[in-house]
Amino acid sequence: MMTVQTPGNTEIRRMWKGGPLRRWAEERPLSSWIPYATGGYAGPYVCEICRQDVVGVYRCSSEDWRCAKCRVQAARTGKEKRVRMAA
Ligand SMILES: [Zn+2]
Repeated sequence: MMTVQTPGNTEIRRMWKGGPLRRWAEERPLSSWIPYATGGYAGPYVCEICRQDVVGVYRCSSEDWRCAKCRVQAARTGKEKRVRMAA
């Protein structure tokens, strides 16, 4: 599984405009979390679609960062869209 265990008392933040979502906490919940430039600590990335905590996300469009599973779904949807447009 690509999902990550996340302790409570965290929130989801977008890292920068157009950037991926990530778990953020004021107090460091785990040693694996990294100090964040503007304060607090950053943890796992969060998928835009299923809102699961994951170790990494893929950029699907300008502000759409998805986990591996949702990225596959996006590829499938894109294909269907192209087929309809051609018909
Ligand atoms: Zn996902």
